[in-house]
Amino acid sequence: MTEKIGFLGLGHMGGPMAANLVKAGYDVAAFDPAPAARDKAREDGATVVDTAAAAATGRDVVITMLPNGKLVLDVYADLLPAANPGTLFIDCSTIDVADAKAAADLATAAGHRALDAPVSGGVAGAAAGTLTFMVGGEAADFAAGLAVLEVMGGKVVHCGGAGVGQAAKICNNMLLGVSMVALSEALVLGEKLGLSHQSFFDVVSTASGQSWALTSYCPVPGPVPTSPANNDYQPGFATALMTKDLGLAANALRDNGVDGALGALAAEIYTRFNQDNAGRDFSAIVTDVRNRSTREGAQ
Ligand code: NAD
Repeated sequence: MTEKIGFLGLGHMGGPMAANLVKAGYDVAAFDPAPAARDKAREDGATVVDTAAAAATGRDVVITMLPNGKLVLDVYADLLPAANPGTLFIDCSTIDVADAKAAADLATAAGHRALDAPVSGGVAGAAAGTLTFMVGGEAADFAAGLAVLEVMGGKVVHCGGAGVGQAAKICNNMLLGVSMVALSEALVLGEKLGLSHQSFFDVVSTASGQSWALTSYCPVPGPVPTSPANNDYQPGFATALMTKDLGLAANALRDNGVDGALGALAAEIYTRFNQDNAGRDFSAIVTDVRNRSTREGAQ
């Protein structure tokens, strides 16, 4: 078993992920500049260190869970020279595919090994150790990191080479964002036409318009009692995070010359909605569609 782990970024996701590694018996050296995150990690049994570099020194695996790609690249500049040759770097942050590839290139050029391993499952999945990991990198490095990832996750999928884990994440979330907007438009159209939410659900959930957004995460109260719509759109998955992920997807569409009209439009729609609704669940977009719809149709 790999014994020594460095963990950087002890926020909503990283905090409970690091705590699960400690619980599983790993020796975790943790770093975060935020005092509250450091205190919590100490309570959870991690050894809190004072610099990023100290979290990489003498470690077998170094995990990062940070807000964006620029930060990952900046932090790697401190971590890579401090680590023993051959250290396995696993970045679990959601970042641009291009930044993920750049981070892996920096790590391998410095004589280390690297995986991108973004997650889905949110804060609840991080706490329960049931995250899904989408992993990019060499097969041998994936095999080396699997035991550690399985402590934090319920499902770990090797998707391909460097950056391909991030690709899986943004493709999925682009599809989710687009389908939530499309579902919201259909629901509001149904309202205008006198179709109740329950009748809409009863038909569409078993018809060709069916989607996860409808059957597991219905954006109106009633048909799926566990969905955030029944709890005044408390996240769940915050609009700020969906907006971030759609922005990454829009960058990837552009960088790769893909004619992704709907993905780009969903990014625009959520960017606008995010201005006043960043902390609400992303399914609250249905309220925006409703509010922006005219009372009367075109004459
Ligand atoms: P967060 O803002 O709660 O945590 C980020 C942490 O990084 C903070 O504690 C911050 O102090 C720390 N940090 C900043 N600079 C640092 C540095 N130089 N060294 C070490 N730590 C540093 O964010 P989060 O919700 O935990 O999300 C982390 C990542 O996971 C993001 O990329 C996000 O997109 C992704 N993600 C989040 C969720 C979710 O539901 N929150 C779900 C899936 C993926």
